[in-house]
Amino acid sequence: MNQHTKVCDIAIVGGGLAGASLAVALAPLGYDISVIESVAFKAASQPSYDDRTLALSHSSCRILAGIGLWDNLASDATAIRKITATEQNRPVHVELDSAEMGLTEFGHVVEARCFGGVVTQKLKETKNIEVLCPVSVEGIDVGGLHSKLNLVSEDGTESLSARLVIAADGANSLIREQLKIPTQTRDYHQTVIICNVTPEKAHRGRAYECLTSTGPFAVLPHTGTRCGLVWTVESNGAGQILDLDDEEFLSRAQDRFGSHLGKFLRVGKRSAYPLKLVRARQDTGERVVVLGNAAHAIHPVGAQGFNLALRDVASLAEVLADGDVGDPGAAVLLRQYSQWRREDQRATIAFSDGITRLFAHPSVLAAGLRTSGMIALAMIPSLRRHQAIKAMGYRGKVPRLALGERLRLP
Ligand SMILES: Cc1cc2nc3c(=O)[nH]c(=O)nc-3n(C[C@H](O)[C@H](O)[C@H](O)COP(=O)(O)OP(=O)(O)OC[C@H]3O[C@@H](n4cnc5c(N)ncnc54)[C@H](O)[C@@H]3O)c2cc1C
Repeated sequence: MNQHTKVCDIAIVGGGLAGASLAVALAPLGYDISVIESVAFKAASQPSYDDRTLALSHSSCRILAGIGLWDNLASDATAIRKITATEQNRPVHVELDSAEMGLTEFGHVVEARCFGGVVTQKLKETKNIEVLCPVSVEGIDVGGLHSKLNLVSEDGTESLSARLVIAADGANSLIREQLKIPTQTRDYHQTVIICNVTPEKAHRGRAYECLTSTGPFAVLPHTGTRCGLVWTVESNGAGQILDLDDEEFLSRAQDRFGSHLGKFLRVGKRSAYPLKLVRARQDTGERVVVLGNAAHAIHPVGAQGFNLALRDVASLAEVLADGDVGDPGAAVLLRQYSQWRREDQRATIAFSDGITRLFAHPSVLAAGLRTSGMIALAMIPSLRRHQAIKAMGYRGKVPRLALGERLRLP
């Protein structure tokens, strides 16, 4: 690359799940958008588009439909029609049925790699999106009418100026660090192991989540006869479980899960992710929005991380579509976005962090709270309904795209 400065309206640092979705959502507004991603989209080491199964909430599926991604995702998506939630070693279980709520499903399960194929194809096809990959951002200067990014690739260095920079560069965000945005962090000392399993019986669209002291153990409906297994363990025991041969691994997983779906017959490749809460104390700065894992990397209990990011994406797109100031980085718009998102972000993070800590706590009081909470949910239909609506992404001021409506286009 040559040593010159390119200019665009919006530069998105990180073309992962959140950054790429935002680029697609903003493109119809007519901005010149650059997406800078350091790891080739199809590389085995791509950190965002890997083997994890993503449970996408009802509102997320609507957002994805509204930004034109759902049609190409639908054939690889599996509907979640029923949910069984239990607490380890306790008889109470909570049953949720989408039909009882007048819905065909609560959401869908999609593999992150498959999402990556669809979203990156859309990036390539969209005229006003330029994808710079593999290119890394190694620095940012803010101030004035543009923020300036320093880009590095194997061809050399380059600068890119943008009126708005989106830091969607993951939990260890370099942009967040360089802008000295403080974070709240909490190491859960838990590691989640994910893989696909093939059980004897069909899943029939039912998701299972068992809450244990070492985190959730979940079995999600997946394409064909497969299910996505999400097994959270204490980090210091994770290596041992990863090293088990397939037969022993399946036998241990079966002991945890029981016989809801008969015998687990086969298991696929296992991957592990140590779990930490990382929350930026500000989600905007001068001409900057911090998005996705860079803003809030949360525990996967309840499968809320990307769903929350998609609501942020839909809200930011709405603020920019409705804003009548001609500058996507205008402070007034970023303030509006930040104020809007504060409550949903706070409540979603508090839920995933609170439930993880409540289930890990050894005290009798915590055990009492857990059990009485589960009993209340099992016995009171209106409470179940209330919780399900929030888990589907409908809380506070819901973005238009999540309601199935369109953005106001120029
Ligand atoms: C096991 C597991 C299961 C999960 N399940 C669910 C689920 O069911 N439902 C749900 O809603 N959420 C789920 N999540 C959360 C979800 O994965 C995250 O919310 C999501 O990955 C956030 O995407 P992101 O794009 O913000 O960050 P990332 O996925 O971390 O992507 C960041 C991108 O930025 C790039 N990058 C980093 N630095 C630079 C740089 N300097 N220059 C250029 N590019 C850079 C990286 O290469 C990467 O592609 C799960 C998480 C885990 C770990």
